[in-house]
Amino acid sequence: EKKLLEIKNLTVHYITDDGTVRALEDMNLEIGYGETLGFVGETGAGKTTTAKSIMCLLPDPPAKIMSGEILFEKEDLLKKSIKDIRQIRGDKISMIFQDPMTALNPVMTVGEQIAEGIMLHQNLKKEAALAKANEMLETVGIKSFRSKDYPHQFSGGMKQRVVIAMALACNPKLLIADEPTTALDVTIQAQVLKLMQQLKEKYKTSMIMITHDLGVVAEACDKVAVIYAGNVVEYTDKKKLFTNPSHPYTIGLFGCIPDVFSDEEELSPIEGLMPDPTNLPSGCPFHPRCPKAIEKCSKEKPKNVDIKDNHFVKCFLFQK
Ligand code: SF4
Repeated sequence: EKKLLEIKNLTVHYITDDGTVRALEDMNLEIGYGETLGFVGETGAGKTTTAKSIMCLLPDPPAKIMSGEILFEKEDLLKKSIKDIRQIRGDKISMIFQDPMTALNPVMTVGEQIAEGIMLHQNLKKEAALAKANEMLETVGIKSFRSKDYPHQFSGGMKQRVVIAMALACNPKLLIADEPTTALDVTIQAQVLKLMQQLKEKYKTSMIMITHDLGVVAEACDKVAVIYAGNVVEYTDKKKLFTNPSHPYTIGLFGCIPDVFSDEEELSPIEGLMPDPTNLPSGCPFHPRCPKAIEKCSKEKPKNVDIKDNHFVKCFLFQK
């Protein structure tokens, strides 16, 4: 099986005046060609830090990559020059953020913005790039005559479509989408998600979908990494995760989904809050909130165990 991206033993710290934030601890993940990997977890768990590490966008300082490799087509991105990284970004790896305005320039027409990236990365002249930009707009369901409009003339959902067109214009091998539909209202969310699925299939792009929403995972992902306090606590394909969620944190997340067949309105959220990242608990970082914790959970760190055919869980309950 060919891998597009492999993250090996990645550990990232933020060195701040208030102490060291252990943002990612010994992370191991892979993405195959054409595959979508979901990153699920609460805000602050390390999802965006992982995405920024792959994009080489972590601010140093305060971020420090303590160890690990990020192999993209077998080459370590962490060893590349700034020049090479700029080429890879946009050309081979693109990112979409929650707020489309972070990617859009308010004083440029959307057609020019999409064309700019195409000119930069595909060596096309302005006219050809503008034509390609129009084509991309049509692909995401926006009439090409609107290419002369400015971002503020579009609704939120349309702006996110423009950003998707921009991200896909250079046909990247990997698209990282950081909560791309969270800021949109529910019906538009579903449309944008569906569009991303269609485009992914059309362009054979691999994707990382960052989300706190298991519904998005069910809809869009092939594999899932559940992330808690900088640790991948469970990692497997979608089917195994949904039929046999195993880490106590994952089970808690599933408990948070409202049951559509039940009359009860109450959710059953996981008790407690995410730990202070500058002062993570000893042992398993989930132990203060874990209903299944045993004595050694506060003392030692659990290892990553393959419980069945590539279903990885980091928890003592599964350690022999
Ligand atoms: Fe809970 Fe212990 Fe497993 Fe951590 S290692 S998830 S505290 S049972």
